Amino acid sequence: MAIIFFIFAVDMSNIIQLLPDAVANQIAAGEVVQRPASVVKELMENSLDAGADKVQLIIQNAGKTLIQIIDNGCGMSSEDAELSFSRHATSKIKKAEDIFSIRTMGFRGEALASIGAVAQVEVKTRRPEDELGSTLLVEGSKVQSIEPAAHSTGTSIAVKNLFYNIPARRNFLKSNPVELRHIIEEFQRIALANSHLSFTMHNDGKEMFHLETSNLKQRIVHLFGKNYNERLVPVEEETSIANIYGFIGKPQYAKKTRGEQYFFVNKRFIRDPYLNHAVMDAYKEILPTDAYPLYILFIEIDPSKIDVNVHPTKTEIKYQDDRALYAILKSAIKRSLGQYNVAPTLDFNQETSFSGFLTDTPKGEIKPPTISFNPNFNPFDQEYQEAGSPGGQPIGTSAGGSKSSYHRAASSVLENWEDLYKVTEETPSEQLLISSPTEEEEITTKGQKNQVFFQLHNQYILTQIHSGLLVIHQQRAHERILYEQFRLQLANNQGSSQQTLFPQTIELSASDASILEGVLDDIQALGFLIRPFGGNTFVIDGIPAELEQGVDEIKIIEKILEDIKNNKSTIELDRKNELAKSLAKSTAIKPGTHLDQQAMSELVDKLFACELPNTALNGQATIITLSLQDFIEKFKNKPQDS
Ligand code: ADP
Ligand code: MG
Repeated sequence: MAIIFFIFAVDMSNIIQLLPDAVANQIAAGEVVQRPASVVKELMENSLDAGADKVQLIIQNAGKTLIQIIDNGCGMSSEDAELSFSRHATSKIKKAEDIFSIRTMGFRGEALASIGAVAQVEVKTRRPEDELGSTLLVEGSKVQSIEPAAHSTGTSIAVKNLFYNIPARRNFLKSNPVELRHIIEEFQRIALANSHLSFTMHNDGKEMFHLETSNLKQRIVHLFGKNYNERLVPVEEETSIANIYGFIGKPQYAKKTRGEQYFFVNKRFIRDPYLNHAVMDAYKEILPTDAYPLYILFIEIDPSKIDVNVHPTKTEIKYQDDRALYAILKSAIKRSLGQYNVAPTLDFNQETSFSGFLTDTPKGEIKPPTISFNPNFNPFDQEYQEAGSPGGQPIGTSAGGSKSSYHRAASSVLENWEDLYKVTEETPSEQLLISSPTEEEEITTKGQKNQVFFQLHNQYILTQIHSGLLVIHQQRAHERILYEQFRLQLANNQGSSQQTLFPQTIELSASDASILEGVLDDIQALGFLIRPFGGNTFVIDGIPAELEQGVDEIKIIEKILEDIKNNKSTIELDRKNELAKSLAKSTAIKPGTHLDQQAMSELVDKLFACELPNTALNGQATIITLSLQDFIEKFKNKPQDS
């Protein structure tokens, strides 16, 4: 009995095995190497740790075919080069406590082992003191060959065919523009944190960045564009807990997306919602809620007071004294904003809200009507039509022959949108009691097509319907109309254009230029006549026919790029929808735009020709109705001044 048990126990213990290195490395690679950009990050950080002052990044096929980094750092001996691909091989720490005095970017000794497990790697390296360097080929976690060779000092690591041996991960990679964007983002972070070093980046043979040694402000301008010079406000604060320096953006240049927000702790890029909150709090009074200011902030802190070893990619940090850091950061930002006198006196809530009038009614307190009245009498009719044509404009002029072809198309889809709001037989009887039109009324409305519109505060379009009052949010309605139209053009790949009077040139940063190139076909399908003009410059000769002459086409393109950067979706259809949405939003009429009868009539007709006329692009309502019942109940309230 005892013997059998013994054998059984031995058998059990054999279940656990040490994974072969290659497998262990592949698993570890999942954490460190998620995409080409992670390789860029790890290798560039190694170059910084090696003391390089010049780092070149070469990319092919968005990093899927090649990621090469060439540095002029300290190089490696052939033994070290070989060892560097084993797991937990690092020259940067020797004992556990070293983690808490870390000054280098790397220390986990995982990157090269992980990369060597999931790609074909060629290393060329030479130390300054060696006459000959070495060339190494690594594949599937194994050093395939190592040979002495003549190289310049420093290290070149070429990572080819990332995930060649893990098809599932390779298939998981996103489209080239998306992967390239991630690479550029990593490159920019490292370039920002090391403005005293020089960097270049080539993508498919084309130079995207050429950054010479500079100060931080120059580096920001080189990366983001000349116009950033005037947008930056310096921040500087020295305390016993931490030193903070860098730049923040003037509030008027805040963007609708979070793109340009960077924290570096001891030169390491980190994400930190808590510290982000400190910055946003400092801006609180001077920014609208959905705007994100630029910040590029460096926090220098004693390494023993933080823990960077929270996550394999090291983008999270724990601080010993995070409350103090929060307070210091917030006051530093506030001081800079005050000092440079950039807090504007704008009132961002100046928009008069109509919704109060509609929603203030305490619904539960209203009692059912107790008076009786003539069901066919509609006092609203007469009054409303008078109010609707203040200039004495004869009713019905908007139905003339001057409507655009689009308008005619729209009308044919839905001849009488008013019918949508017709009170039908199924309408609850109490409502019928108030507003059911006589048959006669019905006929005249249809026959004359004399709908009258009234514009409220240049924001809402009001018009009478059988059951009461229809209120249209003019901006949301126009956004919906443009969105559906642009979406159609993108699907059919044909938009109509109009030449602009003066062609505009738009100069972009290298990364924005590559984004624009990636969507140029779609932008042209929307009706923009836009062409590359060498370097990162484009010329806009024409705009979509739907837009007004005199719109700021450069701003519109910039907004589209901004939205693309913010849109993580890679599904083709989603991408196109987002593009249509972006253009619709930036070009739709804004509150405060006066519309005449004709314009209002067209807008309403087009809206009702839409697939989803009731829903705004943000999911809220484009249209609300106030029934006569609503008015009756409102008027049962006591006079307001009593
Ligand atoms: P870590 O950076 O965490 O030490 P890595 O796997 O990234 O781990 O690198 C392993 C080791 O290889 C490093 O500690 C360093 O000694 C050496 N190494 C890597 N890249 C370079 C380089 N570009 N120049 C010189 N040495 C390098
Ligand atoms: Mg490293």
